[in-house]
Amino acid sequence: MTEPSIQALLADRLQQVDNRLRAACQRAGRPREAVKLVAVTKTVGVEVARLLPDLGVSDLGENRPQELWRKAEPLPSSIRWHLIGHLQRNKIERTLPLVHMVHSVDSLRLLSALDEAAARRQHMLPVLLEVNASREPNKQGFAPEELTSLTPHIAALRHVQIRGLMTMAAFDVEAEKCRPTFVNLRESRDRLQSELGPQYRLDELSMGMTNDFEIAVEEGATLVRIGTALFEGLG
Ligand SMILES: *Cc1c(COP(=O)(O)O)cnc(C)c1O
Repeated sequence: MTEPSIQALLADRLQQVDNRLRAACQRAGRPREAVKLVAVTKTVGVEVARLLPDLGVSDLGENRPQELWRKAEPLPSSIRWHLIGHLQRNKIERTLPLVHMVHSVDSLRLLSALDEAAARRQHMLPVLLEVNASREPNKQGFAPEELTSLTPHIAALRHVQIRGLMTMAAFDVEAEKCRPTFVNLRESRDRLQSELGPQYRLDELSMGMTNDFEIAVEEGATLVRIGTALFEGLG
């Protein structure tokens, strides 16, 4: 495909996703601006990712740190990169200067290591805690009931700002089946917020992917992470 035809296709898909986001917001009585689209570029190359800012999308997501480095380093620094997959501690140093937000903090060890690395850079790092809200075995993330035990650790952080929670629902062809997972994440956030008190702002709920983002928006998602609906066939 030529670049203008990829651009036209992407513009069309973005419009469709936006229409669906708008309709879901309307159903939930939320303003469209309450939900930000993070375009997950993991299946496409730099040449496709670089078209997005001109199409109005400057929040891009990658699930692997190496892939984030590979795309972020050559692309304009105006792009806000979101790391949405597991971060190994030995990849923190190279990732930190490139990333706008880490959605996938899944252990206390990682949280502390990020705080130390951000302190060395004199840098404030916004992060989300990943929660296994669908309670699948062998899935990354904190158990929902584990979250309140984190409050003393969160209070000790100096350079990491906890901005909310993230989850991935179990895939189901019937997206409606994902709703309890999203409700669980919202309620987990509300509980942690009241534990932490008003000096913390856990405003963000990163939930919803191609298969289930409309349900996630109905349940309060502020960040939806969408790949397939935008990039299918372009990889
Ligand atoms: C790939 C990925 C997405 C996007 O999934 P799609 O179904 O392609 O929209 C969202 N979140 C995470 C963590 C991912 O790895």
